Amino acid sequence: MKCKKCGKKAVANLRAYRISLCADCYVEFYKRLVERSIKKYKILSKEEQILLAVSGGKDSSAMASVLKEIGFEFEMLYIDLGIGDYSRDSKQKVEELSDLLKVRLNIVELKDYGFTIPQARGRVCSVCGTAKRYIMNRFARENGFDVVATGHTAEDIASFYLKNIAGNQQAFAEKLLPRIEPFDAKVVARARPLFEISEKENMLYAILKKLPFKSGECLYAPKPDWKEIVYDIELKKPGFVKNFVRGLTVEVKKPSETRYCSICGEIASGDICSFCKIRSKFSKSF
Ligand SMILES: [Zn+2]
Ligand SMILES: [Zn+2]
Repeated sequence: MKCKKCGKKAVANLRAYRISLCADCYVEFYKRLVERSIKKYKILSKEEQILLAVSGGKDSSAMASVLKEIGFEFEMLYIDLGIGDYSRDSKQKVEELSDLLKVRLNIVELKDYGFTIPQARGRVCSVCGTAKRYIMNRFARENGFDVVATGHTAEDIASFYLKNIAGNQQAFAEKLLPRIEPFDAKVVARARPLFEISEKENMLYAILKKLPFKSGECLYAPKPDWKEIVYDIELKKPGFVKNFVRGLTVEVKKPSETRYCSICGEIASGDICSFCKIRSKFSKSF
């Protein structure tokens, strides 16, 4: 198999694009892919203050590296959820990434809010998602950032969408756009620069660029049923995932009434925000 661009030995056969590429041509191809996507969907602008949420995994490490390569400036945020070795190893990877890219790394520890994820027995994954969203938004706003970028991939978006549509929770669909503008002064814009990029593409870029990243899922991660369905369809219909996420054009409506948490003052859907509800249950310092 030879590189379609330069004729050298190919390392990647990209079925969704019907092209084989060598290592150097792949890195260039990936950069252009992300750059085009950011322009097309106006995901990020070079004029804004960008905070990148990094986890130590391949996707967010690839995101940080490629954004730097295509000329974006940003700071990174790592949220230490207190999940034993998993969090410790992940933190080490983001510290290495920060040294490599020469980008400032901010670290927030969930334990400063009085609890850690392993203490949220039984429903750690939904607690984890709520805690991450809360801390990201609050940290970004309090530190003057205009937008938080996360490393969600095309597979994340497609599987999350299918799962929620199947569960008849269409309201979730609007959380899956490449960019969501704030609907309130307390909310910071959210961006997903890799929303049409696949996990394999990120993995290959991370490996070829020798980026530090931790492999393996969190021990609390749910069974990836919907992801596996997405992988299966992609296997039979190469290009499905990309076409699927490109087709998600949901109008984002402003909530009719914005409410604020009576405890912490952040955005809430009721009297108390979902993060404070969790804190009141698990945190001794609450
Ligand atoms: Zn080549
Ligand atoms: Zn609250």
